[in-house]
Amino acid sequence: MSINKNYKPSPKEQLSVEQIFSGLTKGNVRALSEAITLIESKKSEDHANAIDLINKCLPHSGNSIRIGITGVPGVGKSTFIEALGEYIIQSTGKKVAVLAIDPSSKVSKGSILGDKTRMQKLSANEKAFIRPSASAGSLGGVANATRESILLCEAAGYEVILIETVGVGQSETEVAEMVDFFLLLMLAGAGDELQGIKRGIMEMADAIFINKAEGDNLKNSEKAAIQYRSAIHLFPPKENLWTPVVDICSAIESKNIDKAWSVIDDFYQSTNNSGMFSQVRAKQNEYWFVKNTELLIQQKIFTNAELLKLHEELKQKVKLGEVSPLVASVEFVSKI
Ligand code: GDP
Repeated sequence: MSINKNYKPSPKEQLSVEQIFSGLTKGNVRALSEAITLIESKKSEDHANAIDLINKCLPHSGNSIRIGITGVPGVGKSTFIEALGEYIIQSTGKKVAVLAIDPSSKVSKGSILGDKTRMQKLSANEKAFIRPSASAGSLGGVANATRESILLCEAAGYEVILIETVGVGQSETEVAEMVDFFLLLMLAGAGDELQGIKRGIMEMADAIFINKAEGDNLKNSEKAAIQYRSAIHLFPPKENLWTPVVDICSAIESKNIDKAWSVIDDFYQSTNNSGMFSQVRAKQNEYWFVKNTELLIQQKIFTNAELLKLHEELKQKVKLGEVSPLVASVEFVSKI
């Protein structure tokens, strides 16, 4: 049992970074939970410890396949993740961690795994670790907290990382930049075949699985799969040079879940052989460096009282037409 969303150690039993790190690398679930709590902490006094811990974990990280799973609320993401997680543990013996990213929690209220008492079977499995939706820590952004959580899970020996995200658009690009494989779940026969999933998200997918493909819905699902297969031919080639796969599944009946895993495994073998796997990860690291630097510079500027005041003053002047927006920006930046 690994869900402990509300777990808060009392100050007395708070572990040191060294203790957390040592426990975590031994696969201790409590240490891993505390590690994630530390990097999500908004307290500035935790900041240095969080960085220390991430630095310690980095050399022990990377040895996993990171899989993003997306789709609209109700498509069956949690059910699918539970079935896939169970299958992976059973067939490979690998340890599986499940994380969720939900930066748009207002839009998707109730749809992400943290809000539900789901995945009960998987969470009871001692080879599984489930961590509900991340919150933004002092190190910036929900995406960062999730990304660093991936590293911590890897250092704790989890070899498969499943990241659930809601298919509403915002979080996908960021998740795509932190995973090796991106899987999109869709439904057949829901009116518009593209059901609000933006084309950009489909273009990011390494695999599209049409879920709930059973009973009366089977024929429609097969038809939808054919349509998606021809649609993806028109997409530009993917950076990792992988040709996306389209198939059907039934998460609730655990049907074709083995197929999904074998597609992921094929992807892993082929991108590893071609060197693409590590190339894409290297590019992702570069992306996060650039993005985080921008983010932290911004944070630094806008937590400076003097600069904040100047920014407000200039904003008013710009509004009143007393100074041009460009001139105001130049003046502001010259004061940094
Ligand atoms: P999420 O919001 O995308 O995480 O979707 P859930 O996993 O919570 O599933 C939404 C609903 O669809 C639940 O009632 C599930 O039991 C149901 N569901 C999930 N997968 C399947 C499936 O393969 N077939 C059918 N018939 N129902 C499913």
